[in-house]
Amino acid sequence: MLTLSSDQKKIYQEATALWGVEFLRGMIHEEYGEYLVAENHYFNRNRCTEDDLVEEVADVMVTMFQLALLLGETEVLEVMQRKIVRLGERVAQANPQWKEG
Ligand SMILES: [Mg+2]
Repeated sequence: MLTLSSDQKKIYQEATALWGVEFLRGMIHEEYGEYLVAENHYFNRNRCTEDDLVEEVADVMVTMFQLALLLGETEVLEVMQRKIVRLGERVAQANPQWKEG
């Protein structure tokens, strides 16, 4: 099961307390936009490096974890875990020789 460390939670909670949900929503939109541009530049146009793409993936994940904490960390992580298990089932179905773990 994925979890957030107490240090991560403390930082995310303080950021939300300082700047609020509307600011977070704006950051999510901004970071997703940056990710989409970087993804297109990396895969289709060779106009950014893998490091640039990694940077934008990390930015999106940070905003998503901050939102997950706001919505309920346990609930979001449980749903995420269910979806990962479902993905594993689909992979196993598509490739019967594949085994988890
Ligand atoms: Mg960014």
